[in-house]
Amino acid sequence: MTRILKFGGSSVGSAAALRRSAAIVRGELPAGGLVVVSALKGTTDRILEAVAAAGRGDLPAAQAQLSDLRDHHGAVAAELGLVNNVRPAWGPLLARLDQVVTGMALLGEATARGRDAALAAGETLSAHLAAACFQATFRDVREVMRTDARFGKARVQLPALRAAAEPWREALAGGALWVTQGFLGIAPDGATTTLGRGGSDTSATLLGEALGAAEVQIWTDVDGVLTADPSLVPEARPIPRMSLGEAEALSAFGAKVLHADSLAPGGRAGFRLVVANTLRPGASRTEILPVAPSRAAGEVTSVAYKEGLSLLRYPAAAGLEPPLEAARRLEEAGALRFGLVSSPAGTLLAVRPDTPAAAEALADLEAGGAERESGWAVVALVGEGLRADPVAALRHLAALGHEPVGGLLTGSSTVSIAFLVPESRLGDLIPRLHDRCVLRSPEPA
Ligand code: ADP
Ligand code: ASP
Ligand code: MG
Repeated sequence: MTRILKFGGSSVGSAAALRRSAAIVRGELPAGGLVVVSALKGTTDRILEAVAAAGRGDLPAAQAQLSDLRDHHGAVAAELGLVNNVRPAWGPLLARLDQVVTGMALLGEATARGRDAALAAGETLSAHLAAACFQATFRDVREVMRTDARFGKARVQLPALRAAAEPWREALAGGALWVTQGFLGIAPDGATTTLGRGGSDTSATLLGEALGAAEVQIWTDVDGVLTADPSLVPEARPIPRMSLGEAEALSAFGAKVLHADSLAPGGRAGFRLVVANTLRPGASRTEILPVAPSRAAGEVTSVAYKEGLSLLRYPAAAGLEPPLEAARRLEEAGALRFGLVSSPAGTLLAVRPDTPAAAEALADLEAGGAERESGWAVVALVGEGLRADPVAALRHLAALGHEPVGGLLTGSSTVSIAFLVPESRLGDLIPRLHDRCVLRSPEPA
């Protein structure tokens, strides 16, 4: 059965990284399989900068970004000795990127549709380079990844993906070794879409589902899923085995290692899902299991957070319709909703405006009289152990001490408890919660 390997930006970000990834592909896919790659590290940010400059009508700034992008890609290809291999594919791609960005700069307007068209260059350049480096065949993911037309955060249409993927399934079963792009999709009218920042994980798992894969491996730059974000908690430890529910909650509440939408396909299709480190292939890794590993009652496995939230507060007298309407509108525009809590005291909506359209919708709601506070973050404690001992969550909350808490968020998931704090508190709070709730949690039974 087919296996899928996904390499993130840092795993393809330099010649050395690509060589390491090539060795992993040789070792893991001796009988063929599918490799999904992100853009080279930093490329998506660079294209977004170019698009933003173009939107301001600043053509020189936009072209400076594109020139850096070309130089960096050219240098990596040269170091690998693959310039001639990629030139036929890269030439038209770079020319098109230049045209799209120049067109935007001349108009002084960056549309969501144009932005996705520009972003596609990053993933596609990378996939051609990786295909050359891995001695594999490039296939464009837009042959199969059918989505709606919500540019910037497109929703995949599974039945259409499944049907389109049938020829891929056969070829891969026959031993083909293919490389394709993450992050991209195709709208019903043929325009390129993107799945949201970090969406390549979701590309890999959706392809896993559509192709009936036995296993999806996510190759990144850490030793698997850790007990906390290592940039705030250097002593965070790898989690060898975790449940899909834990992984889903952790990613939903902000752990960047797995895209928030990437767990659902594994839940439906049941393939093996592994997170491993390209820099240290032999180091520990995380296996995400449909059946929960045993955890002690009350045990917290990990802490997650996401900053950049806005809170909209509605008085009880406003009723439910205005916040519900706001939630619908924001969601349609691609905002992430972290909570919608209603009580006799009023209603609280916590969102993160992840797309420019969502930021505009939020500004409109504020202009229309909604009371908005920005600068909030969501923090979540996650663990199967909370299912067995929900009261433990309350004990863990005591660890907050005198922290100002903006609201408690409970949801359908019983493997997490989440709350809102001012984002300026994260630097202190996350290490403290990790120490109190994860490191001092009871060991698994
Ligand atoms: P890739 O480019 O491979 O997709 P990402 O940068 O998207 O990699 O995700 C990996 C990063 O996620 C890590 O380098 C780490 O900084 C961050 N991260 C945040 N929370 C966690 C966590 N709980 N476990 C592991 N990594 C995490
Ligand atoms: N290249 C895209 C991003 O930077 C997608 C991904 O890396 O998953 O968001
Ligand atoms: Mg990622």
